[in-house]
Amino acid sequence: MKRFRLQPLREIVDLLFPRHCFHCSQLLLGDEHYLCTHCWLHLPFTHNAAVVGNETEQHFQAHREVVAAMSLLHYRPDTASRDLLHHIKYYGARKLALTMGMMIGEKLVESGRFASVDLLVPVPLHPRRERHRSYNQSELLCRGIAKVLQRPVSTGNLVRTVNTDSQTHMTAEERKENVKGAFRVRKPELFQQRHILLVDDVITTGSTTAACCDALIAAGVTRISIASLALASS
Ligand SMILES: [Zn+2]
Repeated sequence: MKRFRLQPLREIVDLLFPRHCFHCSQLLLGDEHYLCTHCWLHLPFTHNAAVVGNETEQHFQAHREVVAAMSLLHYRPDTASRDLLHHIKYYGARKLALTMGMMIGEKLVESGRFASVDLLVPVPLHPRRERHRSYNQSELLCRGIAKVLQRPVSTGNLVRTVNTDSQTHMTAEERKENVKGAFRVRKPELFQQRHILLVDDVITTGSTTAACCDALIAAGVTRISIASLALASS
C-alpha cells in the first residue's frame, strides 16, 4: 500500500509563493535561493584574493598603506553579478548581502593575505542617504565577513560628511573630484595601530574607496586592506 508522505514545508511554500531566479527568472526549487543553480555556477568570480598586484589592487597603487585588496566578482552588465548587486543595493536583499559577505570572508581566509586585519570598516553612506535607504549595503557585507573572520565591525567613526552626487555617469576624473574630502574620521585614536579592512560594494574607478583611504591615512592609519563584492572593469 502506498504510504501518505508529508510534503516538506519548503515545497508547499514554493507552490503557493513561487520564487524566481533574479537573473534568468527560472523557478527556484528546494534549497535554491536568489539565483538558480546554473546562474550561481556561472557568476563571474575574479579569484583574485590571493593574487599580488591583482586588478583591484591596481586602483590603489598610489597608496603605500594598502596591504592587499580583492573583489569577489566582476561587475558586468547583463550578468547575474549586476542583478545580485542591484538587489543588495536598491531592493533591500539584506540576507543576500550577508551571504555574499560570508563568501568574501571565505576568500579572504583562503588567500592567507588578510590574516592580520583586525577591524572591519564599511564605506559609509551619507546619513541622509542611509536614512532614505534604511541600511548601508557595505555594512551588511561587513557583517557577513565578520561572521567568518571573527573581527569587530566599526561604524560611525569613518563618516561621509558630504552627500555626493550619483557617480553613475561620471568620468574617472569627475568621480575623483566628486568624492574628494567627502570622508572624515571622527576619533582617530580608535583606528590607530589597527589594520583596517575597508569594505565596499562595487569598485569602479576606485575613487570612493581611495577617498576613504585618504581619510584613514590622515587619521594616522598605516595598514589598510580592501574588499569589495564587485569590480567593474574599466
Ligand atoms: Zn538563473
